[in-house]
Amino acid sequence: MSSNDPDCPFCGIVAGEIPGRIVAETDRTTAFLDANPLAPGHTLVVPNDHHERLDDLGEDLASEVFATLHRLTPAVEAAVDADATTVAFNNGPAAGQEVPHVHGHVIPRFSDDGGAP
Ligand code: 5GP
Ligand code: ZN
Repeated sequence: MSSNDPDCPFCGIVAGEIPGRIVAETDRTTAFLDANPLAPGHTLVVPNDHHERLDDLGEDLASEVFATLHRLTPAVEAAVDADATTVAFNNGPAAGQEVPHVHGHVIPRFSDDGGAP
């Protein structure tokens, strides 16, 4: 069973109803380019079902999200010739989460980019 929120942009991208530059998909996760990237190649990984916070995911789905991040991170790094990546979740509004659909950020980093985003 899947669940989505009609007001959620990431549910819209997963459903193909909102344009998104999808870079990878598994049965239960989707990765797409961030619309306002902090660096070229900034990618988001989401569970296809709508859940607000990381702790709302079951362990299986959390593992699949992490597996997608794990597989994608070196590919993102190579695609933009980055030196490293920051991989992060803003988990809840007080942590800066603006879109209430769990998403992991893969942010390419460069040795001369001046430090933490
Ligand atoms: P947060 O602050 O919630 O961790 O990050 C939300 C991220 O989603 C931001 O980096 C923002 O640029 C990105 N974003 C917000 N709306 C959209 C959208 O409609 N499409 C895409 N591709 N990215 C979005
Ligand atoms: Zn959603």
